[in-house]
Amino acid sequence: MTSNEIKALTGRYIMNTYGRFHVAIDHGQGATLYDPEGNAYIDFTSGIGVTDLGYGYQPWVDAITAQAKKLGHVSNLFYTEPAARLAEILCRRTGESCVFFANGGGEANEGMIKLARKYSFDKYGKGRAAIVTLNNSFHGRTITTLMATGQEVFHNYFFPFTEGFRYADANSLESLEAAAGDDVCAVMMEVVQGEGGVLPLDKDYVQAVAKLCAERDWLLLVDEVQTGVGRTGSLFAFQQYGILPDVVSFAKGIAGGLPMSGILANEKCRNVLGPGTHATTFGANPVCAAAGLVVQETLTDEFLAEVQAKGAYLRQGIEDLDLPCFGKTRGMGLMIGIEVKEGYNKGEIASKLIENGLLVLTAGPGMRLLPPLVITKEEMDKGLAIMKKALG
Ligand SMILES: *Cc1c(COP(=O)(O)O)cnc(C)c1O
Repeated sequence: MTSNEIKALTGRYIMNTYGRFHVAIDHGQGATLYDPEGNAYIDFTSGIGVTDLGYGYQPWVDAITAQAKKLGHVSNLFYTEPAARLAEILCRRTGESCVFFANGGGEANEGMIKLARKYSFDKYGKGRAAIVTLNNSFHGRTITTLMATGQEVFHNYFFPFTEGFRYADANSLESLEAAAGDDVCAVMMEVVQGEGGVLPLDKDYVQAVAKLCAERDWLLLVDEVQTGVGRTGSLFAFQQYGILPDVVSFAKGIAGGLPMSGILANEKCRNVLGPGTHATTFGANPVCAAAGLVVQETLTDEFLAEVQAKGAYLRQGIEDLDLPCFGKTRGMGLMIGIEVKEGYNKGEIASKLIENGLLVLTAGPGMRLLPPLVITKEEMDKGLAIMKKALG
C-alpha cells in the first residue's frame, strides 16, 4: 500500500484518538525508518521511548523468532523460563526482590497503586489509602492513573474517577508535607518527568522524599515507565539518585518494541500481592520476555556509559547549532528536552523536522528527543544536519 492508501484506511477504520504526524512507516534499520515510498527518516523518538535497540537488531529478531516457534503464550497458570530469567536479571541489577509482569505502563502503575494500598490495608486497616503524586506528572490513561497524573487537563470527561490522590509540587518538601496527612500510604513520582517536559527532579529532594517515606512507612513508588531500561544512561534512573524505591514500574523499553511492562518490588513488599489479588492474562509472555532478555544482554555497563556519552554529544550538538527557535537543552542520557523559545510553536517545529526527514517528539512546553539507544554518531550527525537545514 502507498502512504496515502494507509492513511485513508486508517482514517476510515481506526478510532480517531491520536494526533498523528503525516507519515506512514513501513520498515527500519538501526535508528533510521522508511516510509512505503522509501523515504528515510532519522528516528529521535524510538516509538516514544520503546525501541531502545532500534530496528532490525539481529539478536532481538532471532530471539523473538526462536521463541515464537517454541511457544508464543501459555498464561501464568504455568511456569516459563524466559520470564523467570528476565525477572532474576532485573532484580540482580537493581537490588529489588521480585517482579510482577504486565503489558503496558498504565497497567504497571495500576499494579503499583494496588500494591501500595494493600500494603497499608494489611498493616493499618482501612482509611490509609491516599497517594501523593506530583504536579506536572504523567502516569497513564486508565481511570485510576489519569487521576494519579498531576495535571488538571487529564481529570475530565470520564467521571467518576478513582478517589484518593493528592498533588504536590515537584522539588518542594513543604508542598509534599502540606498535601500529606494521616491517611497517606504512598508517594508516587517520575524522577525525570517525561510527558511533563523532560524535567529531572533534584537529587536532594528525591533523597529527602525517600527518607520521609521510610520514616512514615509510606511506600515510595517510582514510575520508570519512560526513564527505565537504559534511557537515562543507567539501567533505571533511580540508580543515579542513590535511592532504592519500594516499588518501581517499567514498560516502554523493556522488550525493545514488544508490549511488556511490570513492577519491581523490594523485600518488604514481596508478599503483599498474593494469589488471587492481582493478575493479567498476557503478562510475562514468553516472546516478550525473550525480547527483554536480549535488551538486558545488550545494555551492559559499557553500553550504558555510551548512552551517557551519546546524550552529551547530541545535546552539545543541538546547543552548538544555536537555532533561533531553541533555548537550552536538559535531561539525562538519551532522554533530552529542548526549550522552545517564545514566538515559536513546538508542533510546527516537529512537523517541519519530520517533513525534512527527522522524527521528533514534543513534551510539556518544549521538544523531546528519545533516540534509540543504539543510535550511531553518523545518524545523530544526520539528525543535527536536518535540524540546521529545516530550522536554521
Ligand atoms: C508512557 C508512560 C506511561 C503510560 O504507559 P502506557 O504503556 O502508554 O500505558 C506511564 N507513565 C509514564 C512515566 C510514561 O512515560
